[in-house]
Amino acid sequence: MKPKFITLDGIDGAGKSTNLAVIRRWFESHDLPVLFTREPGGTPVGEALREILLNPETKAGLRAETLMMFAARQQHLEDVILPALADGIHVVSDRFTDATFAYQGGGRGVPLQDIEMLENWVQGGFGPDLTLLLDVPLEVSMARIGQTREKDRFEQEQADFFTRVRAVYLERAAAHPERYALIDGNRSLEEVRADIEHALARSFGMDV
Ligand code: ADP
Repeated sequence: MKPKFITLDGIDGAGKSTNLAVIRRWFESHDLPVLFTREPGGTPVGEALREILLNPETKAGLRAETLMMFAARQQHLEDVILPALADGIHVVSDRFTDATFAYQGGGRGVPLQDIEMLENWVQGGFGPDLTLLLDVPLEVSMARIGQTREKDRFEQEQADFFTRVRAVYLERAAAHPERYALIDGNRSLEEVRADIEHALARSFGMDV
């Protein structure tokens, strides 16, 4: 079986961290070799850039921010993602390029064609086999991140920023339904889990 590259994405508070555990258990229960990683991050260079990118004290312009995201991604691909896939190991990444389109493109206003250009340069046509896109309405996202944690540089943005972020995610999912599993994260954890497991099974060609 060709190893798969699966990404998990969505606006803050959609339930990514919570549902990573669901994905982990699914791989374990099917006895499939898998590597979990995250963006920005996944390598020493990437994690250092993550510190800069998420730190509320950082003052970075929108192009610098976008380039740092792709710098982290390039290292991540070269050192972690592509070698694992070459070794027959499935890879699950908590966020990937969809997040750059959504946050730097939708949120910050970087032209989407500029992001596409960087995507082509860095990834050369490589991309996820499946993207699990967790979606929640803005009020739910805001309520969840407001209650539970100290906010990072992105989470401190205002509601209209997240409205634009969410819109880009949804547009991308609608444009490529074969690659995305759009999961309504505004339901019980049980229902969300069932959808994620269903999407994974489908992607692996298992009877569902
Ligand atoms: P993300 O990683 O996407 O930002 P988290 O998984 O950290 O989101 O979830 C944010 C908060 O919302 C956490 O407190 C989590 O327990 C809660 N949460 C996540 N999914 C659900 C759900 N389906 N129903 C109720 N609360 C949820």
